[in-house]
Amino acid sequence: MDTKWIEISKEHIDKEVLKEAGDIIKKGGLVAFPTETVYGLGGDALNPRSSQKIYEAKGRPSDNPLIVHIARLEDLPQIVSYIPESAKVLAEHFWPGPLTMIFQKSDIVPHETTGGLETVAVRFPSDVVAQEFIKEAGGFVAAPSANTSGRPSPTSGRHVYEDMQGKIEMILDGGSCEIGLESTIVDLTEEIPVILRPGYITEEMLESVLNKVNVDRTILSAASGIAPKAPGMKYRHYAPKGELVIVKGKSGKVVSYVNDKLREGHAQGRKMGVIATDETIDQYDACVRKSVGRRTDEASIARRLYEILREFDREDVEDIYAEAFDCSGMGQAIMNRLLKAAGHKIIEIS
Ligand code: AMP
Ligand code: MG
Repeated sequence: MDTKWIEISKEHIDKEVLKEAGDIIKKGGLVAFPTETVYGLGGDALNPRSSQKIYEAKGRPSDNPLIVHIARLEDLPQIVSYIPESAKVLAEHFWPGPLTMIFQKSDIVPHETTGGLETVAVRFPSDVVAQEFIKEAGGFVAAPSANTSGRPSPTSGRHVYEDMQGKIEMILDGGSCEIGLESTIVDLTEEIPVILRPGYITEEMLESVLNKVNVDRTILSAASGIAPKAPGMKYRHYAPKGELVIVKGKSGKVVSYVNDKLREGHAQGRKMGVIATDETIDQYDACVRKSVGRRTDEASIARRLYEILREFDREDVEDIYAEAFDCSGMGQAIMNRLLKAAGHKIIEIS
């Protein structure tokens, strides 16, 4: 299949293009589209065949449910059977935006979309291109991240093209994503809301408007024997092709440990890489060094992370050492993704 790759500007939205994209969805096809978090791989959420096609294009296990994207709050009651009070509060504060909420599903949502579950994940993105596209597509667009399953999520049209060319009808390229990490997922089917995946909307932000939220225990640990409640969180994810290891500890000690490892690797003829921050990047002797930005600028780290992981792939780096990040605020989401990318390989230096 030929994949149409069309640039679209947020400032001057080309309605004709969005109508064409919406028609593809209505006819059961797939279109990748930009959102403020990462690019989505969209299909008609109410059409079981579309959801199957999404799993095929991504190579994603079909027990891993899709998020349904809406563009009007008034559409929500059609796809959920009950809206708890806490969801109304969260929608008021954080929608449209990078927050996904889990509800009991209504009958019109097929099990193909929810990975067989009776619950459905719903998000109302703030990106204006995403909103216009969803409306043109009929209002309910199922969309996981538009990457091949297991690879880093796409934060630019080019990333989507790398993974999806020939597999989907169209890519709407709206440039780089503002946030660059997937949405926070909160389960509202429990008495106390539970964070299943950390993201830009932090635990502190949620607690500032709700009495209490719990956090799924599997978010930052590799705890064996406990299944994460978001099925997708159990899979290795976001991974670059090279072997990634995180190194945690006092900065000077991390630098000297990693430099030793780099020397060993170079001596064996391996292509070695480092992920660090502006403060320390010059202290490493790697062939390929990449800074995610200033250590205190979490928004920039989030925005750059997946692009950097993909750059290592393009440069065929075989071993990558990454500095660890703080686990508070948005750092929790960043470390969660980095740990998954590394398959939980972390070395703590005392
Ligand atoms: P992605 O869109 O690629 O970021 O993946 C969607 C994430 O949402 C995966 O981790 C899914 O497991 C999770 N998810 C989607 N629907 C549900 C649901 N009904 N219950 C729990 N997790 C869900
Ligand atoms: Mg994903």
